[in-house]
Amino acid sequence: MRHINCKKGSRTLFPGLVLAAFVLAGAGSAWGLQAPPAAAAPAAKSATDSAATAAAPAAKGNEKPTPAAPRMVTVGIPNLVAVLLFAALVFYLCNWVFLDTRFVSTDRVKWGLLVLGGGLAGLAAAILIPVIYAGLPLGVILFGGVSVAYAVHRNTLVTPPLRVLTGAHLVRIRRRLFGRTATEEAESGPVSGVGHQILFMGLDDLPVHVEIGSPAEQLAMNEVERVLHDAIVRRASTVGYLAKLTRGEVKYRISGETYSAKDVERPAAEHFCTIVKRIAHLDPTETRKPQEGRVRAIVATQPFELRIKAAGTVKGEQIAVRIVDVIASQLTLDQLGLAEGAQAALKDALGVQPGLVILSGPPDSGLTTTIHACLRHFDRYVNNVVVFEPHTDVEVENVQHVLVNQEDGPVATAEVRSRIRMEPDVVAFDAVALPEIAALLAEASKEHVVLVGIRAADVVQAITLLTALLGSARALADRLQAVTNQRVVRLLCPDCKEAYRPNPDFLRKANLGAARVDTLYRPPTRPAGGGGKPEVCPKCNNERYVGRTGLFEVMPIDPVAREMIGRGAGAADVRAYIRKSGLRNLQEEGLQMVVEGRTSIEEVLRAVKQAM
Ligand SMILES: [Zn+2]
Repeated sequence: MRHINCKKGSRTLFPGLVLAAFVLAGAGSAWGLQAPPAAAAPAAKSATDSAATAAAPAAKGNEKPTPAAPRMVTVGIPNLVAVLLFAALVFYLCNWVFLDTRFVSTDRVKWGLLVLGGGLAGLAAAILIPVIYAGLPLGVILFGGVSVAYAVHRNTLVTPPLRVLTGAHLVRIRRRLFGRTATEEAESGPVSGVGHQILFMGLDDLPVHVEIGSPAEQLAMNEVERVLHDAIVRRASTVGYLAKLTRGEVKYRISGETYSAKDVERPAAEHFCTIVKRIAHLDPTETRKPQEGRVRAIVATQPFELRIKAAGTVKGEQIAVRIVDVIASQLTLDQLGLAEGAQAALKDALGVQPGLVILSGPPDSGLTTTIHACLRHFDRYVNNVVVFEPHTDVEVENVQHVLVNQEDGPVATAEVRSRIRMEPDVVAFDAVALPEIAALLAEASKEHVVLVGIRAADVVQAITLLTALLGSARALADRLQAVTNQRVVRLLCPDCKEAYRPNPDFLRKANLGAARVDTLYRPPTRPAGGGGKPEVCPKCNNERYVGRTGLFEVMPIDPVAREMIGRGAGAADVRAYIRKSGLRNLQEEGLQMVVEGRTSIEEVLRAVKQAM
């Protein structure tokens, strides 16, 4: 936000500075040379240099040489204009540097004086050196040198989108001066936070303003932005930060696995926790007691909610950030990405009362989102709906959210038992892992609608695992209506995805030979910026993907399947039956999305291979 203020400031100062340039240039020429009486204003030329006169073809009447003066000065209007433009540029840039030093928290006096000195020296060279074709370029080089030195210095202090004199920056300048080209206008969708890789917004939807007090704090701010942006792009569900003596340790939780990320080094590490707490409106001076806050982040036009917990531990100060995809958290069944037939089958299954539906997926596959979307399918004003979950990141209106920690064994079981005694119409459980709780849910499905969430890599494994928890398939088979399994896949950026002709052998192997596919899409393989395209894709900020969707397999339980599950048929038999009955599995559903141009083969394979 502050750079917008800079712009405003320089705009108001600009006319004054142009005026100052005129005065200074005029004074310079009057002082350094004897300006001819005919010349209205500054900028000077050598008296002896007649070539300059010849080279000023556009000169009007008042530029006639004055033969009386022995050291006369001839001023061509183009030369005068060139020097004045240069003077205006010097003052515009000096003003910008002065304001920008505050924005990037660098030494204001040092850089201000350096650039101003370079500008004045350049201006003096342009005015005082008799031959303007030598003086002006020398002046430009002098001033350009210090300006570029400052740009290089300040670029090291800010995140890539805020850097100047980069390809993306020049594109932005062009757009500001001349507007978007017709093609850009047609192709670009809504973009928020352009120029930032990550933008923090308060829950009031206003940008978060963090006061930066020192260069080290600015570095810490850059690191906070880098870490959170990186975590969101890598689809992490949680970021952990532990302040150690000399550095900060960063860990991501992605698809249920913990990964070590790049450490935050000193001096940024010293201020990392403080900056995170300021962003989340927590007390930055409190380093021991636990605090919790929330803030939104926009990345590649997508909103995320960050649930931030800060606390002091024996190991050091700790920050944990849970990342919630805001759009996904509000989805209904129609918006999950289910194919038409699968969606109808799932809705039918949810409509059977009493009945049981298994919703499954590996960690971070969007299972909670699906459970919530299923709960939204019920009329929560008429029905009493309760959901048991390990975190309550998102609340569904008119649904009782009950926190259950299954590591507490008996406590958790007692909680579930007492809630089910209150006769809810719909019961959902996010990721059951305890046999006692599985038994309570199976029992409840005799009278109510029960949605059982379970961690599993496919529908057959989900049935096998739940059967194992229950100890018998019989309790399950009678009331089981459908089993789903799912993944999250990223959608290709529509602006920069690249068409290619697929290899026919590959299509045959992927069972797509009959589909007569001529073109598939993939993320751009050439670096951005070629072929006249902007260096940074305005739609996806070069993330290559924009948005995500669910990838589902839905198996409705027909009498044959019910009989197989009831008698405890092996996984291989159930799988063979599913294939025979023509249900598409995750990979086939994913390849269908590839054929539709929505995602890439590599993305589908990555998602489907995600194990438990
Ligand atoms: Zn793009």
